[in-house]
Amino acid sequence: MATMYDSLDAVKAEILNCMKCGNCQEVCPIYLEEKKEGAVARGKIKLVDAVLKGDLEYTEGLAEKLALCLTCKACVKHCPCGVQVDKIILAARSALVKKKGLHPIKKAIFGTLKRPGLFNMGMKTGSMFQGLAFKKHKTLNGAYPRFPFGLDMRRIIPPLATTPLRNLLPEVIKVDKPVKKVAFFTGCTMNFIYVDAGKALVDVLKANNVEVIIPKDQHCCAMPVLAHGDSDTVKEMAKSHVDLFSKLDVDKIITACGSCGSMFQKHYLEIFEDNPEYYAKAKKIADKIMDISDFIVKEIGLDESKLGPVNMKVTYHDPCHLNRGMGVKDSPRQILKAIPGLELIEMKHADRCCGSAGSFSLTHYDLSMSIHKHKIDNIKATKADAVVTGCGACIMQLGDGMNRFNHNVPIYHTVEILAKSYAAKKKSEKSAS
Ligand code: SF4
Ligand code: SF4
Repeated sequence: MATMYDSLDAVKAEILNCMKCGNCQEVCPIYLEEKKEGAVARGKIKLVDAVLKGDLEYTEGLAEKLALCLTCKACVKHCPCGVQVDKIILAARSALVKKKGLHPIKKAIFGTLKRPGLFNMGMKTGSMFQGLAFKKHKTLNGAYPRFPFGLDMRRIIPPLATTPLRNLLPEVIKVDKPVKKVAFFTGCTMNFIYVDAGKALVDVLKANNVEVIIPKDQHCCAMPVLAHGDSDTVKEMAKSHVDLFSKLDVDKIITACGSCGSMFQKHYLEIFEDNPEYYAKAKKIADKIMDISDFIVKEIGLDESKLGPVNMKVTYHDPCHLNRGMGVKDSPRQILKAIPGLELIEMKHADRCCGSAGSFSLTHYDLSMSIHKHKIDNIKATKADAVVTGCGACIMQLGDGMNRFNHNVPIYHTVEILAKSYAAKKKSEKSAS
């Protein structure tokens, strides 16, 4: 049986499910900006259908239309027929790459991503010499590119950490009388950029008597590669992760990013649909994947006696792949609402895409930012002191958007706020004793 990444025929039934009602227009962030039929799910499904029927060729024009999708799944959630639009788009992008090949720049980037040693060395060199390529922003913790090397010159990029998280922490973090044993899939953003959020996650697990393994040989989950249709490279990257995590005797595998979590929970299974051995191994791993906030609330139980005050008004942004991909929406809110002194103010359209979609913000910067402007306007309207979210790519996009649209409040991962609350409690207990 061919997988959806090997043959477009595998999504034929999904295409036939679309009754062409146009309901997806209401929620598609791209359509809301572009107001063109080709931008909405219905229009894209029609194009893929035409390719399948042999009425349309694999052209540059088709590639650009297919690129205009954030795979945010807003249309999937809103569709009365439950059409898995993102599945159709990803299958079509893969078919396009198989037919026309990959752009040489993407080929070089993905070739590096699949070689963890080379990628880690590149990031290390990047962190040492980032001052040459980037000009530091005078107030924000970020920098503008000095040259147009694939990054928009107006864009603020957070600095790469001097030491990646996986080099900073031991591979096995033991605790007295562990209640659970987990593996932590750090993802690239926590490993190379938001190291403090990664450390906060480990502190939170330790505070709950959870033993943590951070496998050194893990690498990129391959979501950016999948989004660009290079399914052969995804297969190689998925295989190495399936082999690595299969060897571990752990209760759960913790992620802190919806895209990484969705790769393990869903896309690795799709990629191995024609390979019974790897499908079975990937399924065992998929069943263990849990986002950190869900793990704390549903698996450990949120112990409110551990929580100290964090005096802040915050608003929460739902990352698409965490919310509609992994179904994690309530747990981060439960955590935030339980923290004494913290007020959660819901923003309008909290679950609408921030426009990042990983590399979409690199390839379509202006459109990505016009989508993002609504997010910043909705954040501003809450008058919150800080924004909380559960995805490194969203944090990066929000940081850039804050600068562009003149709103400067800090952005945190949910787990950082929880770690702050635990630390405040410990501090108050210490001063009382
Ligand atoms: S994808 Fe769903 S919502 Fe959009 S036109 Fe088709 S059936 Fe209607
Ligand atoms: S996944 Fe998101 S961006 Fe893509 S068509 Fe659906 S609503 Fe639009």
